[in-house]
Amino acid sequence: MTTAADDHSKPWETVRRGLLLLMSSPAGAGKTSLSRRLVADYADMVLSISATTRPPRPGEEEGREYFFKTREEFQALIDAGELLEWAEVNGNGYGTPKAPVMAALEAGKDVLFDIDWQGARQVAEKTPQDSVRVFVLPPSWSDLSRRLHARAQDTEEVINQRLALGQREIAHWSEYDYVIVNKDFDRAYADLIHIYRSERMKPGRNPWLPDFVRELAEE
Ligand code: 5GP
Repeated sequence: MTTAADDHSKPWETVRRGLLLLMSSPAGAGKTSLSRRLVADYADMVLSISATTRPPRPGEEEGREYFFKTREEFQALIDAGELLEWAEVNGNGYGTPKAPVMAALEAGKDVLFDIDWQGARQVAEKTPQDSVRVFVLPPSWSDLSRRLHARAQDTEEVINQRLALGQREIAHWSEYDYVIVNKDFDRAYADLIHIYRSERMKPGRNPWLPDFVRELAEE
């Protein structure tokens, strides 16, 4: 008798239900570096590229960091129902294009979102079973401020706006399933991997399990 354990098609690699990993933090806490590393290291994880009305920062590329839209184009996406969620953040529109997320899930992939608390809440309300929310905190406020200054991407005024926005973002930390304090990048990344791998082992995310266990019992 061929059992699931002998089967070289390895159901645990082929039959999976993707999860939505929603990551939020104040700007400068290291969320972008953590999420980019996770996507680079795990072939099953794809990054959701958002649409935004904010202009590109130096070094940002269309379709890599964001899809940059005019207000009219962004509104058209909302009106056509093409966004899974959207929110106003610091005077700009940000939203998640729905189609690539659905395509990734259908292909058995997981999707990582760099998203503010409003968006994370919307997605988690729509798909509570599939959503995992992670909040990244800086080790201190001065560290956050230092990191934003070190980037040298923004003017002093913009940095102050981002810090004020960060304070409002942090107010929502307790809505999240997990909180990582990013004191040391490698440690924080190890924490993120633990979360991801543990969440992947939840029974509901592995639809092959009932058959596998039935075959184990019959063996
Ligand atoms: P930034 O302009 O610094 O790239 O992003 C500002 C904020 O917008 C960040 O907190 C980021 O997580 C959030 N954000 C980026 N993309 C989306 C999105 O698609 N939806 C929502 N709701 N927030 C987003």
